[in-house]
Amino acid sequence: GKPIVAIVGRPNVGKSTLFNKIVGQRLSIVEDTPGVTRDRIFGDVEWCGKKFSVVDTGGIEPASKDIILSQMREQAQLAIGAADAIVLVTDVRSGVTATDADIAAMLLKSGVPVVLCVNKCDQVGDPPAEFYEFYNLGLGDPMMVSSVHGYGTGDLLDRICELI
Ligand code: GDP
Ligand code: MG
Repeated sequence: GKPIVAIVGRPNVGKSTLFNKIVGQRLSIVEDTPGVTRDRIFGDVEWCGKKFSVVDTGGIEPASKDIILSQMREQAQLAIGAADAIVLVTDVRSGVTATDADIAAMLLKSGVPVVLCVNKCDQVGDPPAEFYEFYNLGLGDPMMVSSVHGYGTGDLLDRICELI
């Protein structure tokens, strides 16, 4: 079947915004409240002559006793397990957090190819200073993206196409 690309990351980093931007439809709910996407939502993308399915996930919090949070993590792990490539979304405004590092380690262990998206880079031009911290995640070159404005999403899709 079609390759599957899963979008993962902490709540509120802009996964659903990115998903809607690259799918070209508002299929997923964008919310200021973290963790709104509890189920996996699928959309179809065609880019560079390749067709693939993109999956939005609810967001990964550290291992927790909270049922909803642990279900969100489980959904994300299912999506990672089924994916041919992963987009890890982070937020330049918060810099690298402990949870980002936790997820990056989980992804490195999975062996699935990863594109590292540093979202909310809303200014065109040089990356903000915080951008360079993301090299420390060990996932290769981070990509500057503004999902709201659509900056960098074409380059992100190009990178995905190289991996699938
Ligand atoms: P999710 O929980 O990771 O799916 O995050 P959402 O897509 O629901 O977005 C969370 C919040 O971040 C919303 O208020 C979005 O409008 C905002 N957001 C998402 N992408 C960007 C971006 O590129 N720039 C800015 N400034 N805000 C963004
Ligand atoms: Mg979401």
